[in-house]
Amino acid sequence: ALTAGIVGLPNVGKSTLFNAITKAGAESANYPFCTIDPNVGIVEVPDHRLDKLTELVQPKKTVPTAFEFTDIAGIVKGASKGEGLGNKFLSHIRQVDAICQVVRCFADDNITHVSGKVDPIADIEVINLELILADLETVDKRLARVQKMAKQKDKEAVFEYDILVKLKEVLEAEQPARTVEFSEEQMKLVKQLHLLTSKPVLYVANVSEDEIADPSDNEYVQKVREFAKEDNAEVIVVCAKIESEIAELDDEEKAMFLQELGIEESGLDQLIRATYSLLGLATYFTAGVQEVRAWTFREGMKAPQCAGVIHSDFERGFIRAETVSYADLVEAGTMGAAKEAGKVRLEGKEYLVKDGDVIHFRFNV
Ligand code: GDP
Repeated sequence: ALTAGIVGLPNVGKSTLFNAITKAGAESANYPFCTIDPNVGIVEVPDHRLDKLTELVQPKKTVPTAFEFTDIAGIVKGASKGEGLGNKFLSHIRQVDAICQVVRCFADDNITHVSGKVDPIADIEVINLELILADLETVDKRLARVQKMAKQKDKEAVFEYDILVKLKEVLEAEQPARTVEFSEEQMKLVKQLHLLTSKPVLYVANVSEDEIADPSDNEYVQKVREFAKEDNAEVIVVCAKIESEIAELDDEEKAMFLQELGIEESGLDQLIRATYSLLGLATYFTAGVQEVRAWTFREGMKAPQCAGVIHSDFERGFIRAETVSYADLVEAGTMGAAKEAGKVRLEGKEYLVKDGDVIHFRFNV
């Protein structure tokens, strides 16, 4: 399963946020594909479409979909040189598929900041630089190997050599690898390098309790937004402390609390949703009287692969996918009405499943 890593300097609120995630978190028993690990928190993906489908179908049970966050503690300056837990930290980042970088945007004199003052951009740059330096090492190592062969005009080696030189140039300019545009063919090679800075990133601005309702006055948040824009990255504003309180409430209490705070959606829910799409994940639904359920697939997956998310037998014996879009189903009101209106399609092996599809798989056992 794909997972997003939570990173950040010490004392920015990572543990507080991760606590909120595990407290709000889903039972791993419902999600057998998920890892059981104290550093992994399973979150359910909030999705109003699932509520609507439940209303329409009135099933016995409704199950949201879920994915994982991994808590990656311990980055310090010098990590790429193996200082502190540095190497371990970097190897943990290597295993995640996207990065949520928590930055401190709250002033609180009682809480020490590692570099003495609150300066979110400096913090981001410390972390990004460590990742860039680690990648530079990876690229240099590979370059040393490929260079010789490239000199002998080995075609594949020349192809790779050009990519590596480009990456080196960008990394040396202290820019992440994800800023380089590669062709699809080149991208295949780049992926094999498992670079840390080619992973997609979003920034989590952690603000204080009294600023969460209206963070627009927080100059740190503004700076993070400007920075993120350059990086093509999204910014989610949370108050980790409040999120960990919200996580203890039931749905009704939560709604009331948010209303009191003047917030429409909790920061954590926003974070979950943003991270889900950062990971390239999307949702399709199954809607039977027994169970209405959301399922996660990777964007670009075809119908049989998506069937395989439910069970490998579904993929192996795939015949077709009876598919209706969420919007069409809601408009028709019932599956029967959607069929009559000709909105239910019979899709085959090559069908690219779309976010929001409601599917009934037909398969051979
Ligand atoms: P980590 O080292 O990044 O994991 O940071 P922690 O989550 O342990 O937080 C460091 C300190 O900052 C703790 O004392 C937290 O209670 C405090 N803290 C975290 N988030 C917030 C917040 O949103 N507001 C305030 N005022 N304090 C926070």
